[in-house]
Amino acid sequence: MRRFDTREIRVARRTTSRAINRQTVLELIRTHQPISRAGLARVMGLHRSAVGLIVAELMTEGLIREGRTGEASRGRKPTLLHLDTRGRCAVAADVRATRTLLVLTDLTGHELTPLSSFPTECDPDAFVADLARRVRELLAGHPDAGSCEGLGVAMSGMLDRTGTTVVHAPALGWRDVPITEPLSHALGLPVVMENAAKACALAQLWATRKDVPTPGDIVFVSVSDGVGGGVIVGGEVLRGRHNVAGEFGHMLISIDGPPCACGANGCWEMYVSNLATLSRYVGRPYLPRRPLPAELSQLTVDDLAVRARSGDVKALTAVHTTARYLGLGLATIVNTLDPDRVYVSGEITNAWDLVEGAVRAGMSERTLVAAAADTEIVVVQPDEHPRLRGAAALVGGPAFVSSR
Ligand SMILES: [Zn+2]
Repeated sequence: MRRFDTREIRVARRTTSRAINRQTVLELIRTHQPISRAGLARVMGLHRSAVGLIVAELMTEGLIREGRTGEASRGRKPTLLHLDTRGRCAVAADVRATRTLLVLTDLTGHELTPLSSFPTECDPDAFVADLARRVRELLAGHPDAGSCEGLGVAMSGMLDRTGTTVVHAPALGWRDVPITEPLSHALGLPVVMENAAKACALAQLWATRKDVPTPGDIVFVSVSDGVGGGVIVGGEVLRGRHNVAGEFGHMLISIDGPPCACGANGCWEMYVSNLATLSRYVGRPYLPRRPLPAELSQLTVDDLAVRARSGDVKALTAVHTTARYLGLGLATIVNTLDPDRVYVSGEITNAWDLVEGAVRAGMSERTLVAAAADTEIVVVQPDEHPRLRGAAALVGGPAFVSSR
């Protein structure tokens, strides 16, 4: 797969390589659009004529286009440049244990259709057939979206290094299930799959909306039914030898802790997942793989936040305890990876005003360097759909990373 590497921008200042300057122009237009040729030349420290040649080439290839004219204090008004997302689209799928979400986007991740959601088929063959049928229907219903560049899949589970096979998805009960090849065969389209939390981390790197990505190493922690993680170091997803780097949910909190779905005891997710928080509230031990007690199946972390705000001390204690464990785990992440920024997503972020103090206190308790306790934490709200953004970025990102 082609590389995402925002550091190429820095490299380009030290080289005259035309290919790298091309990629830099694309990256700058993506993050600063609309921008003029003169603006590009200024940021890149290149002569206008050199930028003009690259721009002309990218326009001929249909990757960028001219838009309206900008303001100028004197002389001719500059024509502003945009990425050309017209006539091309992507499909993004967020596959969770219970439901799958699907949306059609342009190549910068903007949604072109409302989200659709349907139960996830647990049988792999049925899953592939069902998802392929729904993607075909979605595309057939929107012929004006243009040609589809591919399907991006954010998958709840661990993937092999090639990203084609689900090695283990405990909640779906899948082991060694090939997904992208049968899906691609059924659809006649490229299919790119990524672990959901790694996809979320990628989406922050390849910010597909107006937000300009901030440089630096980042960690993404997603807290929901389980806890997932993704790490970006040096502009690339950290995978490790077995593509399991970033599986923070199974960090050890206590060897005597409750049994986890992974077979071990006392994993972090047994203390901070939504079910852990809800179990704490109703005073029940949290046992994965058992049917949910009736009082938990209707309750959500959002409900708990509402109750905590209205003075329910038990609810406030439950979310505060989760927040403390969240902070303790984040301290371990900061001590081992020392990232520039940590993104946290999941329902607990809807109660961030209630829990941030306890998260910070938990971090301060365990970080080795005082300044590390102040590592920036960026909350990603559930309605931002980070997993779908990540899935869209799997297709849209490489489409604008020049390797032609
Ligand atoms: Zn575990």
